[in-house]
Amino acid sequence: MKFVYDFHEGNKDLKDLLGGKGANLAEMTNLGLPVPPGFTITTEACQEYLRHGTHVDGLPGEIDAHLATLEQAIGRRLGDSHDPLLVSVRSGAKFSMPGMMETVLNVGLNDESVAGLSRQAGGNDRFAWDSYRRLIQMFGKTVCDVPGGEFEDALHEAKTAKGVKDDVQLDADDLKALVTAYKKVFVKHTGHDFPQDPREQLDLAIEAVFRSWNADRAVLYRRQERIPADLGTAVNVVAMVFGNLGNDSGTGVAFTRDPASGEQGIYGDYLANAQGEDVVAGIRNTLALSELAKLDKRSYDELLRIMATLEGHYRDLCDIEFTIERGKLWMLQTRVGKRTAAAAFTIAAQLVDEGVIDLDEALTRVTGAQLGQLMFPRFDLSGDPAAVTRGIGASPGAAAGEVVFTSKHAVEAAAQGKAVILVRRETNPDDLPGMIAANGILTSRGGKTSHAAVVARGMGKTCVCGADQMEVGRDSFTIGSQEVREGDIISIDGTTGRVYLGEVPVRPSEVVQYFEGDLDPERANDPLVAAVHRIITHADGKRRLKVRTNADTGTDAARARRFGAQGIGLCRTEHMFLGDRRELVERLILARTETDRNDALAALQPLQRADFLDILREMNGLPVTIRLIDPPLHEFLPSLEELAVKVAVAQEQGQRVEQDVQMLAAVRRMHEQNPMLGLRGVRLGLVIPGLFAMQVRAIAEAAVALAAEGGNPRPEIMVPLVGAVQELETVRTEAEKIIAEVAGDSGVKVVIGTMIEVPRAALTAGQIAEAAEFFSFGTNDLTQMGWGFSRDDVEGAFFWRYLELGIFGISPFESIDTEGVGRLVRIAAEEGRATRPDLKLGVCGEHGGDPDSVHFFHEVGLDYVSCSPFRVPIARLEAGRAAVESEGSDHR
Ligand code: PEP
Ligand code: MG
Repeated sequence: MKFVYDFHEGNKDLKDLLGGKGANLAEMTNLGLPVPPGFTITTEACQEYLRHGTHVDGLPGEIDAHLATLEQAIGRRLGDSHDPLLVSVRSGAKFSMPGMMETVLNVGLNDESVAGLSRQAGGNDRFAWDSYRRLIQMFGKTVCDVPGGEFEDALHEAKTAKGVKDDVQLDADDLKALVTAYKKVFVKHTGHDFPQDPREQLDLAIEAVFRSWNADRAVLYRRQERIPADLGTAVNVVAMVFGNLGNDSGTGVAFTRDPASGEQGIYGDYLANAQGEDVVAGIRNTLALSELAKLDKRSYDELLRIMATLEGHYRDLCDIEFTIERGKLWMLQTRVGKRTAAAAFTIAAQLVDEGVIDLDEALTRVTGAQLGQLMFPRFDLSGDPAAVTRGIGASPGAAAGEVVFTSKHAVEAAAQGKAVILVRRETNPDDLPGMIAANGILTSRGGKTSHAAVVARGMGKTCVCGADQMEVGRDSFTIGSQEVREGDIISIDGTTGRVYLGEVPVRPSEVVQYFEGDLDPERANDPLVAAVHRIITHADGKRRLKVRTNADTGTDAARARRFGAQGIGLCRTEHMFLGDRRELVERLILARTETDRNDALAALQPLQRADFLDILREMNGLPVTIRLIDPPLHEFLPSLEELAVKVAVAQEQGQRVEQDVQMLAAVRRMHEQNPMLGLRGVRLGLVIPGLFAMQVRAIAEAAVALAAEGGNPRPEIMVPLVGAVQELETVRTEAEKIIAEVAGDSGVKVVIGTMIEVPRAALTAGQIAEAAEFFSFGTNDLTQMGWGFSRDDVEGAFFWRYLELGIFGISPFESIDTEGVGRLVRIAAEEGRATRPDLKLGVCGEHGGDPDSVHFFHEVGLDYVSCSPFRVPIARLEAGRAAVESEGSDHR
């Protein structure tokens, strides 16, 4: 196996093997762009290392060979005391994980080569010793787990001793003394000296980067971003170039378009006389990139040319890290840039306009999750709330909550159900748990490319950065004379960067308004709305899956229809038995005689008819799947414990409570240890005479009534929790009789089908299809019964541990478990269709609106997915994406 690739050997399509950074460095090298020479150690080497926990056979030899090539290209040798080659050792996984893994810079420096570096830098001793102390610090922290605070303390002491405030005020001798101090810290914690052998430094740094794949924060980030745990990181070994060699040097980050809005232009940050890490960490406030034109016109122009080349080559927004070393521009990284949800849509539409991509490709450049983000509301500023300060709108959205100042407090407060805004001077990767827990993030330092900004954008979390009028303390921040303490409420706007005291009301999203068909006139020409319209219309033209909605009321049905629903896939009728109808249901359950029961049913029937008429009317002309009542009847009765106590107390006091005693007996009779596996669904219909019949009659009558109004009702009756064809046949025989009787010659047709949500039903689907005109997969119950997980209990009980152990990457209740539960779906679809080729197949469990699951249902060949009204647009988009993706794979 080949473990090391020179930059000349790779290309951008080798991300699995070389990681994103390595693949793109290779691509830029091959494009002839100025990339410092280097090589990439593959993710496979990392996987080997992590598997065995020791060095990888064959790897050292390959590193030797590639190092020799690198030394030749540069004309310097690693560790040469007169003219040393220094390298950076950087992580780079397939998917970008900003700041989550390790980097060691300046590898190759030791007590001797520090003099050589000074010579290279034109006799700049200060620079050489500063580079050396940075190496010991980074190496100590990253490779040997020396607590970073100890180096900080030593630096602080050096400044205090000299009576200065800034690092730059330390001269060469001070830094030389600091190196001695750092070495002492190093020995104290590791028990050995800082390694002087540059090759040993290199090997240890590489192993540390491998190990950082499994650092807590990296594990947490992957889980959050759904990045598989077994990919491993590549390691890039690159010749060092220095942005901190004086004012003719510097470092920066740039985007080819605005990553927040998608507008074309020059966006980025530049920091003169600094190392790249200083910009990304957001530690010093940066200059706008356009300022570089004044400082170094030649490099600026070259950068613009390179940016145009990269955009043209990648056909997308790129982000770039670069360094200028004494007037010479070097490209350190590029990748197709992360962007906000709004920018993803607008950029995709712009690129179509520019003829760079077609609409099919535009569809692959956006996701349902991004569309979901755009459907969040924004602040309603009509009350003219005064902003107390303004930072950079780094990740859009509107967030309000209590101020917290530490990641830990954010996690604790969120666990109590509080909305919090995490306020930090700047964030670092250790703040990740707090960033996940918080509603929004506010920092006083750093630009759009700072850690906080990049991570928040990736998570779709509202973030304002670089609000530099804010002085952030331990448990309060001040803006001028205004003080905001921990626990106070603030609101932050991640689009405009404004920060408000107190809670600002929110206004609806323009994308939702667009779907609702009531866009504010001032938003009519919004480029985002135009982009969403264009892309979703294309998705509609492409998709094979239809999208229906789960709705139980006329209001929800109407909204879903505006959102593009092509019918109702699940109307749960049990909700219609709550509220003031509960009393009728109690009567039904407690009925002693047939007459009592029939009376209760007769009272419920007209109410149900009205419910169904309302829904059928809203969905006129479209199919409406109405499911017969599902949950256990005891849910409609009082709690056993409460009633037992009430009766006992009453009897103790000698009161006569005949009715309560009767009720208690009924509740006891109906009590189940496992209600989810008890008397529900079709079982209930078979046990309580007349219950399903009442519902079937109400549906048929509502349909006849709508037809009489001139409407076009298309009701479909769905039987829940079927496990055997005989259950369905029994219900069907009775239902057909009622329908024939009610419909007469009205022309109304009622289709009858079943849920497939019990594993046995999936496995006997061939038989069940004899009695069903459609199947709708109830993937909530199918997951519950497929895994044997109680859907009410387990997510809180132990899923966190399963996620931690990687037993699953995401809850199977959220995204379909394609291998297990998905297999049941596949079997049932195939065997059902074998019996009845025109069997209609859909899904109405929660998975119907989950982007990944939609792709799976497309692939299995279902006819439709059904989801909550707000997820209808997301499912439309994902169904279109799935169609385009499968066309792509058919062509391959
Ligand atoms: C299901 O089980 O997936 C389903 C849609 O039914 P419910 O959630 O009502 O049990
Ligand atoms: Mg169910």
